[in-house]
Amino acid sequence: MPQSANINPSAIRTDPVRLPLLAEKNIQADMLRTDLIHPVISGNKWFKLRFYLEQAVKEGKKGLLTFGGAWSNHIHATAAAGQMKGLTTTGIIRGEKPAVPSLTLREADACGMHLYFVNRGDYRTKSVPAPVNDPGLLLVPEGGYGETGARGAATMLDGCNVNDYTHILCAVGTGTMLAGIQSRVSGNTRVTGISVMKNNFSLDSAVAALLPGQPLPVILHSFHAGGYARHNPALLSFMNFFFLETGIPTDFVYTGKLCHAFYQLTDAGYFPSGSRVLLIHSGGLQGNRSLAEGTLIF
Ligand SMILES: *Cc1c(COP(=O)(O)O)cnc(C)c1O
Repeated sequence: MPQSANINPSAIRTDPVRLPLLAEKNIQADMLRTDLIHPVISGNKWFKLRFYLEQAVKEGKKGLLTFGGAWSNHIHATAAAGQMKGLTTTGIIRGEKPAVPSLTLREADACGMHLYFVNRGDYRTKSVPAPVNDPGLLLVPEGGYGETGARGAATMLDGCNVNDYTHILCAVGTGTMLAGIQSRVSGNTRVTGISVMKNNFSLDSAVAALLPGQPLPVILHSFHAGGYARHNPALLSFMNFFFLETGIPTDFVYTGKLCHAFYQLTDAGYFPSGSRVLLIHSGGLQGNRSLAEGTLIF
């Protein structure tokens, strides 16, 4: 299993993003490659988990308990990170147990995660079912949401001169990473989050709750390509185009939507001439395995 490889934050680098449109608009862009920390563990998920892992060890917990869907990067990363730290992991999984579990779930299982399936109605309540309720487990909210997750996500920017950039863009699920990034920048850098969900307007208050008394980022809601984990031909062909032009692979749930949004915003004049933009590659590439083979060229 590739999960046994170590997490290597020093592999993170900043790659130039070169596209004819950017030259035409006089915009410089870089991509922060947090996907490079590990072959399988999603970049931002490990950063969001790191202080939960520390807390579990410090409090003498034997493991972590968390929530996610069948292709969840968070479930996958929790299983792998728990195994590395010698902590047990329990995943409460949305939906009935499928006859053939997804690759994500099979790999989580191979990392020793105890998978507990609940129907969608029960899942929505985020209550912990009695059979897996154990005070020896640290409860990690879905997606690593919370102050602890945001503090960890902020460390994605360690070693990067964030204040060299006029704009930072990242994909947004729960908003935890976006809040962490916002907490790290000065007033001259504008942080914009691209929501990957349709009409998830409660995000604005979820992010504000993590940034009490601080400036808030902008969240854009029109680049979801149909909704969470949905895709359309325009998104998939853009991801192939982006890879051909830049050599950077993206995932269709998060970073593909981010880059597609960046491209469309640039084309529409969102960034003034001379802008320097940092795009956050937050990982997630393992999720592309849910696409039909041959859909992507990488
Ligand atoms: C989970 C995830 C995100 C979203 O992060 P949030 O902190 O939940 O907003 C973005 N990119 C990737 C690759 C992810 O796996």
